[in-house]
Amino acid sequence: MLVPVLIRSRQHVMEFECGRKGRQRDKDERQDQGDCGSNDRTSEGRGSRADHGRGACSRNLHLCQPRKVLALASQAELHHATLHGQEVGPLGEKTVLIDTHTHLDDARFDGDRDAVITRAREAGVEAFITIGCDVATSRAAVSLADRYPFIYATVGVHPHEVKCIGDDWYDELRRLAQHPKVVAYGEIGLDYHYNHSPPKLQRDRFREQVCLARELRLPLVIHTREAQEDTIKILKEEKGSEVGGVFHCFSGDAWLAKDALNLGFFLSFSGVVTFQNATMLRDIMKTVPMDRLLVETDCPYLTPAPHRGKRNEPAYVKLIAEKIAELKGSTEPMSVQEVEGLTSQNACRLFKIPYGTPERGQSENAR
Ligand SMILES: [Zn+2]
Ligand SMILES: [Zn+2]
Repeated sequence: MLVPVLIRSRQHVMEFECGRKGRQRDKDERQDQGDCGSNDRTSEGRGSRADHGRGACSRNLHLCQPRKVLALASQAELHHATLHGQEVGPLGEKTVLIDTHTHLDDARFDGDRDAVITRAREAGVEAFITIGCDVATSRAAVSLADRYPFIYATVGVHPHEVKCIGDDWYDELRRLAQHPKVVAYGEIGLDYHYNHSPPKLQRDRFREQVCLARELRLPLVIHTREAQEDTIKILKEEKGSEVGGVFHCFSGDAWLAKDALNLGFFLSFSGVVTFQNATMLRDIMKTVPMDRLLVETDCPYLTPAPHRGKRNEPAYVKLIAEKIAELKGSTEPMSVQEVEGLTSQNACRLFKIPYGTPERGQSENAR
């Protein structure tokens, strides 16, 4: 059982030495040059997909400034932290949320982006993932991740946009993906509802991008609408399970949920679970194991009740966690705090985001 705790690091953070490759080393060096104390990093390295237990790795100690770290820790990790001179205490009622799918670069946030982010931070959102849908938005996502320590980015081409893919796009996406805060490849997939790009082209480009994500060793952010069977077929044929990923804004049926889980993927639920007519989706959500659930707003789209009709924003991800706690709680006791803690921990595991983020005051100053 994982418990949210506050870990106070006195004089060092610990880093994992698990066969890290160049890319991870770059990331660590960058981390060491000034951002070194932000956490007890899960630096397993994408080069080594083997599932290391965090306690089983040898570690390096790096001197750095004292810093408080928020973390979700297992008993073994707590034991380890104590051994290494860290103070560990209960987190209490503190909210820890990760909004795993946002479009923070969207023009609808241009007038008040900082205020939107501050509101979300005040509502307990510790980290955000902002998504690329083409080359321009992938660049914008990376530049947001550069500006804010608690924002992470993805790069990729949405099925709506694949008709625009030019000769140099994949090279540029490869280059952007080298940024240390790019945590996934996507959103990619198939959307036969709108068919903004021809279906055959969507399938071809989806296949290519699954291969590219495997080359980059990045997990996949999957967008699929009215295209369940083809999505699963392509993921199987192109070995998507090798990198894993998430079916974002899950809205499929029980068959898709089962197949996605069998492939080792996570399912992410959005404000749609709060919609009155989403009874089937709520029933499916109740069957998803807690260690495979993520939450997201997909803002500025899909605003949850009771704010429907307005622009969506990441602060509302809490409403989704509350809905999940209410629904899961109908069969087994489940607090909102547990849903927040477990979904955040899942996000950290899938996207290799460091457990915990810098303390609020520090992170706001750090940009
Ligand atoms: Zn999508
Ligand atoms: Zn999206």
